[in-house]
Amino acid sequence: MSDWKPIIGLEIHAELLTKSKMFSGCPVVDSVEAAPNTAVDPVSLGLPGTLPVINRQAVEFGLMVGLALHCEIPPVNQFARKNYFYPDLPKGYQISQYERPLAVNGWLDIEVTPPDGEPYQKRIRIRRAHLEEDTGKLTHVGGGSSLVDYNRAGVPLLEIVTEPDINSADEAEAFARTLRAILQYLGVNNGDMSKGVLRVEPNISVMHKDDTEFRTRTEIKNLNSIRSLYRASLAEIERQINLWQSGGEVKQATLGWDENKQRLVIQRYKERADEYRYFPEPDLPVVEISREWVEEVRARLPELPEAKRRRFMETFGLSEYDARQLVAEQAIAHYYEETLSAGVNPKSAANWILGGLFALMNEKGFERENIESTRITARQFAELVKLVDAGTLNKGTAAAVLAEMWDTGSDPALIVAARGLAQVSDQDIIRQAVANVLAENSAMAQDYLSGKEKLFGALMGQVMKAMGGKANAQVVTDILKQQLEAMRSS
Ligand code: ADP
Ligand code: MG
Repeated sequence: MSDWKPIIGLEIHAELLTKSKMFSGCPVVDSVEAAPNTAVDPVSLGLPGTLPVINRQAVEFGLMVGLALHCEIPPVNQFARKNYFYPDLPKGYQISQYERPLAVNGWLDIEVTPPDGEPYQKRIRIRRAHLEEDTGKLTHVGGGSSLVDYNRAGVPLLEIVTEPDINSADEAEAFARTLRAILQYLGVNNGDMSKGVLRVEPNISVMHKDDTEFRTRTEIKNLNSIRSLYRASLAEIERQINLWQSGGEVKQATLGWDENKQRLVIQRYKERADEYRYFPEPDLPVVEISREWVEEVRARLPELPEAKRRRFMETFGLSEYDARQLVAEQAIAHYYEETLSAGVNPKSAANWILGGLFALMNEKGFERENIESTRITARQFAELVKLVDAGTLNKGTAAAVLAEMWDTGSDPALIVAARGLAQVSDQDIIRQAVANVLAENSAMAQDYLSGKEKLFGALMGQVMKAMGGKANAQVVTDILKQQLEAMRSS
C-alpha cells in the first residue's frame, strides 16, 4: 500500500442562492420539493428566439466565493457554449465559461484529522471557479421511459475546480467540509448535498513511488453526502491499487456510488476525451469586472470560519481545538454567539456546547448543522450554563436537566424547581453526610490514610450518593479532606 499515493482533484458544483435563474427572471425553486415544471419560462426551456440576460447577483455571488478562495479575478470573463446532446439540456448546449473563467489561481487551507495520526494543515490550490447554468432533471420510470423536470434548468451554478493536490480520502473530506462551511457563511449555497444543491465529484488516480507522471484517473459522481465522498474515495483508491498490482490497468471511467450497497458502480468508460466544441457565447456580452467592484465586494464579505476561529481564540481564550469545532458549522457558531449574547461566560458556554449538547446530539443521531431545530433555544441553553456557573447545579444534575430540556423544551429553572435538583452547598448538611459515610466505611478510610489515595474517589462517590447527586462537588472534596486529615492526627 505505502508504495502508492492517491492523487485527487475535486470538481464542485454549487447552486447559487439567487431568486431568479442565471439568464432570465424565472424564479428558482426547491427542485426536490416543487411540483415538476412549475418554475420554467421560455429562456430556461431554450425556446427558439429567446435571448439570455446575465444575472448580476449570480456574478456577485461567484465573485464572493472567488475572493474567499483567494483567487485572482481577471478583469474580463466570458461565457461559452458547451455543446452536447442530452434530454435534460433543452438548448442542446449549456452556457458555461471556458477560456475566460470568473476566478483563477486561488487556494484553501484545510485542517486534516486522520483517524490514526496527528492533525495537520495543508494548502490546496484552486485552479478556477466559473459560472454556468444547471441542467434539468431526468427520472427514469422504466419501460424505456423517462420524465423530465426543467425547474432546475438554468439555475445559476458555480463550478469550482481544484488542482490535484489532495492525497487521501481524509483530505478530500476535510476540503469538502471547509469549502461547504465557507459557502454557507457567505450565504451563497445551503450546502445540502442530499438534494444535489452542492455536488462534490472527485477525480482519482494513484501514483507509484517510482512514477514520474500521473496515471489514468476516474471520476465519481452522484455522491450525496460528505460521508459518501469519503467512503467512495477510499474504495476507489483501493480498487485502483489492486488493479495495478494485479497486472491490470485502470481505464478512464465515470463511476457512481451505490448508497445502499456502499459500493462503487462503473457508469461508463470513456474511450476518448469528450468533445464539447466550445465557442464564445454569441448572445452575451463579455463580463467586465471593475477593480472597484472587486474591492467593494471584498469589503462586504462576512466574517469567514478562519477569522471567526481566530477571534474566538483571541477574545474568549478558547483552545484552537474548541474554536475549530465551534466554527466548523455555521449553525453551531451562530448558536454559540446567540448563547453569549445572553451574557454567559464564553468558556463555560463553549464547554457545554462541545460537551453536554454535542453528546446529546450524538446520542440522538442529530446532525450538528441542525442545532437550531432542537427544542433547546440558545436563550434557554444560556440559562442552564448560568445555573452551573452560579453553583445552583453541579455537572451531573446539569446534564440531567439538559436531557430533560432536550425532551420537553422547558426552561431549566422550571425543571430544577419541579425536580428539586438545586445543588446543595450548605456546609453543615455536607459535613453530616461526610461524617456518616466515614463512620460506615471506616476500613476504607483507614486504607486511604495508609496510602491508598485512589480510594478518595470512592469515598467521594459515597457522599455524592448519600446526597442524591446534588451536593456541590468542591465543598464535598474540601470537607472530606478535612475530616480524613482529622482522623489521621487523632
Ligand atoms: P478536464 O479539463 O478534462 O475536466 P482537468 O485536467 O481540467 O480535466 O482536471 C479536472 C480535475 O481532475 C481537476 O480537479 C484536476 O485537479 C483533476 N485531475 C487532473 N488529473 C488528475 C489525475 N491524474 N488524478 C487525479 N485527478 C486529476
Ligand atoms: Mg469539468
